[in-house]
Amino acid sequence: MMSLDTSTLYLMAALVAALLGLLLLFFGRQESIDALKWWGAAYVLGAVSILGWVLIDGRIAAPIALAFSAVGFVACGMVWNAARIFHGRATNWPGILCGALVWSAVLLILQPGADMLRMTIGAGVVAAYAVLTANELWVERRKAYKRRWPTIVIPMLHGFVLMLPILLGDILHADAGSFANSIWVSVFTIELVLYAVGTVFIIFMLVSERTISAHRVAALLDPLTGIFNRRGFVEATMRVIAREAGANRPVTVMILDIDHFKSINDRFGHAAGDEVLKEFAQIVAGMLRVTDLCGRIGGEEFAALLPCPIEEALIAAERVRDAFANAGLVVDQTSVDTTVSIGVADGPVGTELDVLLAAADAALYKAKRSGRNRVETASERPSPAGREPRISDVAAPRAIGIVRRRAVGMRELRV
Ligand code: GH3
Ligand code: MG
Ligand code: MG
Repeated sequence: MMSLDTSTLYLMAALVAALLGLLLLFFGRQESIDALKWWGAAYVLGAVSILGWVLIDGRIAAPIALAFSAVGFVACGMVWNAARIFHGRATNWPGILCGALVWSAVLLILQPGADMLRMTIGAGVVAAYAVLTANELWVERRKAYKRRWPTIVIPMLHGFVLMLPILLGDILHADAGSFANSIWVSVFTIELVLYAVGTVFIIFMLVSERTISAHRVAALLDPLTGIFNRRGFVEATMRVIAREAGANRPVTVMILDIDHFKSINDRFGHAAGDEVLKEFAQIVAGMLRVTDLCGRIGGEEFAALLPCPIEEALIAAERVRDAFANAGLVVDQTSVDTTVSIGVADGPVGTELDVLLAAADAALYKAKRSGRNRVETASERPSPAGREPRISDVAAPRAIGIVRRRAVGMRELRV
């Protein structure tokens, strides 16, 4: 059988750990992901620890050898901590240092000859960190609803291999004297390298998944107001329309367009205009139910979809109109009179979004023409595909005036 030189193996392990560590540090800096920096620093420390162990073992004073090995355990703790940081938990210093302290205590207390027990406890500590790391990544995967077996299998396997000497304690016991040079050391070292590479794959997989989903979410939101942009609104709305149609329930759409917004920009400046948009988005989101959807579909144009009959939606629209008219916004001690015109439309169950939006737009046009600061419905209800409109489809309640005063203080906009 080919004999593996333990020192060469260690050296290789150190090299791999150092390279991976530098890679992780580099990407962590580039992408400003703290978890990757922790992970990278842990691998570099791990490499230093292994190198120290190999190069100067036996040739230096015990305290320094102890320090080198303790660094290795700190590195294990840091990998675990990186997994914590990755999903937003705080750094846990006692946890990071705990393994190293246990190991130092073991080295100081145990007799120099108790190699077997020493290695067993050491492997136990590393295995414990591996299991803790697996647990952190597992929690992360549960949130992502994705394939999660690699994040649990790889660290668990690692923990298992490290625990082998304990499981096979009797067999090894006979051989305890030569443990440090036994085949197990080679097996562990190779396994450690595979583990280090495997976990880097896992962390990169998690980072890329998270980046993709963050980009996806960002592409659907309006950066100024934080509510859906047009694309996000359309995507979310299509789903709700299909769902409600399936249950044979009506939906209502509204388009809300701020009145004379150009003049607000002209008088108070574009930045103040932006603040008014933010305030308005907050009012819309706050006045609707959590099951309603709203988005900013144009410059000062918003839309909402309410899974309810038009009569209920009109009450909600009136609430928004009233709240905005009484928002009491102030810029440079001058009050900004803000009003909004709202067009509301429904259609037969299952009517497509663009048909509903077109009808709401016609209603909005009517509201603008009738003097603004009002809620209007379309005078013609969209007809279901394939049949002529019936009288019952053309139900067109006029804007209803619900007087609902909100106690609003004057608010100074910071622009
Ligand atoms: P109407 O009552 O008929 O709706 O008049 P209006 O002035 O609100 O409508 P118009 O469409 O003439 O003007 C819309 C203005 O909205 C023009 C544009 O400069 C402004 N606008 C569009 N997007 C933004 C934005 O992101 N920030 C700011 N501050 N202004 C914007
Ligand atoms: Mg407008
Ligand atoms: Mg407009």
